[in-house]
Amino acid sequence: MAKNIQAIRGMHDMLPDQIGLWQRLEDGTRQVLESYGYREIRTPLVEVTELFKRSIGEVTDIVEKEMYSFPDSSGDSLSLRPEGTASCVRAAIEHGLLDQPRRLWYRGPMYRHERPQKGRYRQFHQIGVEVFGLEGPDIDQEVLFLTARLWRTLGLAALRLEVNSLGDAEERAAYRAELVAYLEAHHCHLDEDSRRRLLTNPLRVLDSKNPELREVIAGAPILLDHLGEASRQHFAAFCAGLEAAGIPYEVNPRLVRGLDYYNRTVFEWITDDLGAQGTVCAGGRYDGLVAQLGGRPTPAVGFAMGLERLVALLEAAAASAPEASPALDAYLVAVGDAAQAAAPTLAERLRDLAPDLRLQCHCGGGSFKSQFKKADRSGARFALVLGEGELARGVLGVKPLRGEGEQRDLPFDELGPFLLAARPTPISG
Ligand code: ATP
Ligand code: MG
Repeated sequence: MAKNIQAIRGMHDMLPDQIGLWQRLEDGTRQVLESYGYREIRTPLVEVTELFKRSIGEVTDIVEKEMYSFPDSSGDSLSLRPEGTASCVRAAIEHGLLDQPRRLWYRGPMYRHERPQKGRYRQFHQIGVEVFGLEGPDIDQEVLFLTARLWRTLGLAALRLEVNSLGDAEERAAYRAELVAYLEAHHCHLDEDSRRRLLTNPLRVLDSKNPELREVIAGAPILLDHLGEASRQHFAAFCAGLEAAGIPYEVNPRLVRGLDYYNRTVFEWITDDLGAQGTVCAGGRYDGLVAQLGGRPTPAVGFAMGLERLVALLEAAAASAPEASPALDAYLVAVGDAAQAAAPTLAERLRDLAPDLRLQCHCGGGSFKSQFKKADRSGARFALVLGEGELARGVLGVKPLRGEGEQRDLPFDELGPFLLAARPTPISG
């Protein structure tokens, strides 16, 4: 027998039984984003490799070892996108969107060749936001308020917010020199990765996930101490906004981000409920990136959230309060040749009259008994029975499948309103 072909390691199918939480997350996020005036943008999954090298940085984990890159048949190097910001910036420059402030959002799969583990996959999904053309701390606050509102909407209470400022390029350069001196003095305590980073991108050492480096990192000089007046004011105003809005946060001076392009405000929303992969949303300001990719200098701020990790949190919450996925209102069974021939068009008529209706029409024939069994298994709340007699009279037999109740006849045109009115009212709270 031929061997079954399986999905690629670290890339997952989402089955119908799991999709309810994804939809809740995606729909909830979209609603919040639109309520703040953000507009969706969709870009290709594949870009020229150069785009990611120039934006994310040559000496980052992503570009060094996580990218899915391949030559296409004309020899150009292409890559599956590992994140969404670079593509958004490219598109914004390419289509002249930077003539005025823009609030954009995107969603979709991202690809990174990482070691798969809980909360870390090779295909994963993000929803992200990018704001172009606004430089003040007010917009940094807005993107944070928006995320905080989203967690409230989704019922995710236990997320912590960590913030930091990376200053501007000059301030970071001064800091880098001091950090390098410190790390060189502690060279013997560094792991191989950090020794390499020390030469290429020393700030990244602070981002190391090796627990053995914790002590060295804790003793390192602090970037916040090197901020100039303007950066300090920006950060103070940002933090004051969080306080005014009642959003608790912690300043984490070791928070640098995994990507090269950030400056000033950076932040992460973290959960302690998912083990090591606890960051569910991360972002910050990247005022230099647009110019770096050839656009005219444009300040920018954004974030991306990891949907797999958020779904895992929603799943844990749903396990304590199970949430039924929307049930079918009705399942239409048809007995006899004439009724079976008429059923699909009748179902269309019902859908025309009540566009909200969730109606499944039996296909594939069979006895009344076997059709009725399928109606019951479908989870629908009512079976609609169409026989020769019903057809002639212009009615359907309506039989409740969940709980008590006799079958009764209703004219075709009254069915939609009846079924919608019979839906259980959602429990609020
Ligand atoms: P990490 O430090 O966990 O590797 P990162 O800094 O590489 O994260 P970002 O590039 O900032 O992550 O991506 C934003 C968010 O996307 C992360 O906070 C996380 O929730 C999610 N994410 C990143 N990489 C993965 C992955 N391989 N699998 C699942 N989710 C991911
Ligand atoms: Mg990473």
